[in-house]
Amino acid sequence: MSGLKVLSVASEVYPLIKTGGLADVAGALPGALLRENVAMRTLAPGYPSLLAKLDEPEVAHSYPALFGGPARVLATRTADLDLFVLDAPHLFDRPGNPYLGPNGLDWTDNAQRFAALSRVGADIGRGAIPAFTPDIVHAHDWQAALAPAYLHYDGGRRPGTMITVHNLAFQGHFPAALLAALQLPPQSMALSGVEYFGGIGFLKAGLQLSDRITTVSPTYAREIMTPESGMALDGLLRSRAAFVSGIVNGIDIDVWNPAKDPLAPQAYSSLRIDMRPRNKYALQQRLALNPSVDSALFGVVSRLSSQKGLDLLLAAVPQILSSGGQVALLGSGEKALEDGFAAAARATPGSVACVFGYDEGLSHLIQAGSDFIMVPSRFEPCGLTQLYALRYGATPIVARVGGLADTIIDANEAALGAGVATGIQFHPPAPDQLSEALRRAFALHRNPETMRRLRLNGMRADVSWRGPAKRYAALYREIAPAAGV
Ligand code: ADP
Repeated sequence: MSGLKVLSVASEVYPLIKTGGLADVAGALPGALLRENVAMRTLAPGYPSLLAKLDEPEVAHSYPALFGGPARVLATRTADLDLFVLDAPHLFDRPGNPYLGPNGLDWTDNAQRFAALSRVGADIGRGAIPAFTPDIVHAHDWQAALAPAYLHYDGGRRPGTMITVHNLAFQGHFPAALLAALQLPPQSMALSGVEYFGGIGFLKAGLQLSDRITTVSPTYAREIMTPESGMALDGLLRSRAAFVSGIVNGIDIDVWNPAKDPLAPQAYSSLRIDMRPRNKYALQQRLALNPSVDSALFGVVSRLSSQKGLDLLLAAVPQILSSGGQVALLGSGEKALEDGFAAAARATPGSVACVFGYDEGLSHLIQAGSDFIMVPSRFEPCGLTQLYALRYGATPIVARVGGLADTIIDANEAALGAGVATGIQFHPPAPDQLSEALRRAFALHRNPETMRRLRLNGMRADVSWRGPAKRYAALYREIAPAAGV
């Protein structure tokens, strides 16, 4: 079996730039694919913070004018990743969040910024950089979704194309008047092309025109084909159902390894799980929570958005407190949620602690020190925090939606009897069901032997990229243009 070359096009890639799970996936997939004989290079935008981290970048391609200014494609190997970086200062030389300006709103030229990323992905796909002519162009989310569209309309020989949906809620919907400015041909303004509710739909175009569509869990793949969860794209997805699959994400088990985690004070493993409570103590100290071993400690690491269902958790804080529990929350996002949790922390300082902001180090300590990790999402394409929780022996309490349904085994009678349970699931994501899940959590917490079993089951679950990488490689082989690859 000879090697395949894949160009991954992504607007974020860990550890260089990250706002969410997409970055983790884009950063981990190349390493995981090596053992599948797939060589992946990643094309990402040259945000200033990313450019500053590159090792010995070389110019691999130049554009005198790309969507309004000169641009270069830099090639580099940095942080164990083979990268192409789109250095286009007029589009990306802006500080802070990749998508939002200083007023917290989307940059007004996001259509051009990410069309440029996609255009360059398509050009590399067609051989613009002879040193790396990919067999497959793999686009992630709406920001890269025009790459398959450009390849489709360019005509001629093209690589196989795949799009992965990390979150259908973000679709990249722009005015039709931009069609020419985005270098899309007039005939693309059709139902079978980029047209979407009278405008241009980036994600829609990618879903329409890629050879394969994947999303990040089998349950989410089914959910997005229904009107309730399809966010207006369910009809299109149903019409392409034969090309849609769900592949659960893995996690980087070296970055997330409780036996060797510089960000958690006490190393432990499934063989030395008795050492784990020292991290709980360290977490309580760090967040000024009462240093009580017996209090069930519920951790949260999350964007604060209605998707994540944290308003349900906020409403359940009195129940947690009256049952003797504690809450440690790390997150940032919607102001109303920040205000609500801040008020709960002010009212009960030793029992509820919140840190608003982004803190990789604290996220590891919360995983290493919490008894339970809460993920009460209303929808969740895959979810990574529950996978970290499994690996760290923190029992996940999750809504049974999307990837949360696929990765956690509920501690019901049958699963407990068979010794396979790893967490608690509830459904639907609503107050009464969460309350019942918390009641079950406190009951389990009073039974240390069962809790120990749950933690060990979680720690022994395979949450690595090995299985997922095999599935991606198999799909790449189906769509690679040259037979017999
Ligand atoms: P999403 O991509 O929808 O935000 P995921 O669970 O797929 O949700 O991925 C979230 C990722 O971001 C995880 O790696 C999680 O640990 C991390 N994360 C979220 N919020 C924070 C935060 N405030 N500080 C540190 N890491 C965070």
